[in-house]
Amino acid sequence: MKPKNIVLLGTTGSIGVSTQKVAADLPHLVKIVGMASRESVDGMEQAIRQFKPLKVAMTNPSKAKELEARVKMSVASGERGLVELATMPEADIVLVAIVGTAGLEPALAAIRAGKDIAVASKEILVMAGEMVMGEAKKHGVKVLPVDSEHSAIFQCLEGRQPAEVKRLILTASGGPFRQKPREEFAHITVAQALKHPSWNMGQKITIDSATLFNKGLEMIEARWLFDIEIDRVDVVVHPQSVVHSMVEFLDGSILAQLSVPDMRYPIQYALTWPKRVPNSMPPTDFAKISQLTFENPDPVKFPSLRLAREAGRAGGTMPAVFNAANEVAVARFVDGQIGFLQIFETVERTMNAHRVVAHPSLDAILAADLWARKEAERVA
Ligand code: MG
Repeated sequence: MKPKNIVLLGTTGSIGVSTQKVAADLPHLVKIVGMASRESVDGMEQAIRQFKPLKVAMTNPSKAKELEARVKMSVASGERGLVELATMPEADIVLVAIVGTAGLEPALAAIRAGKDIAVASKEILVMAGEMVMGEAKKHGVKVLPVDSEHSAIFQCLEGRQPAEVKRLILTASGGPFRQKPREEFAHITVAQALKHPSWNMGQKITIDSATLFNKGLEMIEARWLFDIEIDRVDVVVHPQSVVHSMVEFLDGSILAQLSVPDMRYPIQYALTWPKRVPNSMPPTDFAKISQLTFENPDPVKFPSLRLAREAGRAGGTMPAVFNAANEVAVARFVDGQIGFLQIFETVERTMNAHRVVAHPSLDAILAADLWARKEAERVA
């Protein structure tokens, strides 16, 4: 396999660090040529010394100056810096792992410059899935999933047509409150919500795993990524997080993809696709895993899945509103301003107040995002 030149947007977050490990493990196949981070100067300095990228950027301009002084190379800054990296002539693939809406413009710029993109930031496909997939098709580039669930589905589909699929089955760990009675949900503390049973991730995504909003966002992503309407996207709770997701075909056969939970597996597949290459990951020990169990998600405890389905059905700007309202609600919950149950209420109220714009432009999407943030602050 020819080595691939990677631009890594979001170098120091949890996906970025796992990507660095993959690149360090496969130096002959994966070369990081560009690196960006929002403001982690220490993390960037270390990564630059290790991988020696051609170009680097930091979103925060004063941090960019600080980094420049340390690494003695020019550091691009702001949104423009991210776009500069995303369109580097040397890049084959741009991995977008920046939290929030900041990844949207660089992702679109990369696609328009003819680069494949690997998507870790949920916002890209949730907010602008229709546009991103349309642009990718127009420019003949690939959108590769980095999320473990979507990587699993991508691997199970392997060139099958959407018409052959009965349904996509996303697995969910169920989060820390899977077995907690609904009566106790009102008293859930921030510390409890931040403890995740199987994955070690950032704060926002950990709360999203506890509410299952994470899975709701993934339903919408899957809908766009695989061109399968949201009513053919289901969720099953699988606490061991070993089956990363499944595809049920028209004939009733189901394919699943399995591995121990470690983000290096899906990241590597996105970066080496369509090839499979050996690595230094430990082998999966089934005797040690011992059992795989499945159960249906509780729709009363977790209205997030219903809200995601409604957002996916409504389409247009509604998924962006769903996402933004959740972000505001999670921030307020972490700050101790609202309770756990109000996260769901805030999202539902904001969605109910939204008037959908169909087939929105990027500006319309960003406007809906802003509107939803204000509305969510108001109703929370
Ligand atoms: Mg996931």
